Amino acid sequence: MEMVDLKMTMRSKGWKIMVGLALVAILLVATRSWGVRNGAERDRGAEKITNLPAKEYRWGVMADIHLDWENLERALELAKKRGQEMVIVAGDLTSVGTEEELGQAKAVLDRLGIKYLVVPGNHDLWAGERAKVDIFGKVFGEKYGAVKMGEIKLILVNNGSSRGLGEEQKAWLWQELGECQKIRCVVVMHMPIKHSFSEHVMGEDSQQVTGEAQELWAKLKSSGVKEIITGHLHYASSYEIEGIRTYVVGAVTSERNNQTPRFIEFVSDGEKMRGEILVLEEQ
Ligand SMILES: [Zn+2]
Repeated sequence: MEMVDLKMTMRSKGWKIMVGLALVAILLVATRSWGVRNGAERDRGAEKITNLPAKEYRWGVMADIHLDWENLERALELAKKRGQEMVIVAGDLTSVGTEEELGQAKAVLDRLGIKYLVVPGNHDLWAGERAKVDIFGKVFGEKYGAVKMGEIKLILVNNGSSRGLGEEQKAWLWQELGECQKIRCVVVMHMPIKHSFSEHVMGEDSQQVTGEAQELWAKLKSSGVKEIITGHLHYASSYEIEGIRTYVVGAVTSERNNQTPRFIEFVSDGEKMRGEILVLEEQ
């Protein structure tokens, strides 16, 4: 009997349901959330989180591991010891981004049991782009997304591809940036957009991507973004250009590193955010 009633209700209210479904679809697109993976709870699958409660957060951003799993493990152990609630890996975990390499990275991250998010670097996308297969997506899931950490919104961007951001990501990103006048937004991505002397920035190999990098920079500025966090340069530093502070987190790998292995720890609440370089101790 209940089934019949439901059917009748659905028919008479069909248009309302259609409008409702359309609204749900719009909301799903608008609030694309990020699955924070917690290694310790991996059996329950990726934990979908959007809003973490307002308080002070301690979190880490590391990059450029380039297959140095020993140092990745040490960096994650240090992050845990420091009480970091989450680690963001800002790309270049691998050398060429095969499924085997990316799988090894994921295994280390899962084993250490700290919440983490990953965006790809240029090295992590090579094999997939060559084979026209989304290998990174297969291993890690989403390549970009946003998550609120208390009163800060972290926007994780995939700018590692030699082909640029892509129209789909751009449409999503412009929408996410729309909120940044109201909430403090911090953008994390693999490549810096600007640097006062290094040419290793987004678009270094392509004029088309250089144009996109300029567009992205202008959009971040007009949206009120004041902080971006990147990897790629293998040299930890922090500098301000046109009112935007860029934190380059340095490299975790011990090879081809302009410094000793390190990453940056951030402590943030809605008002302030400070970064501290954590150097991995010599073994
Ligand atoms: Zn890189």
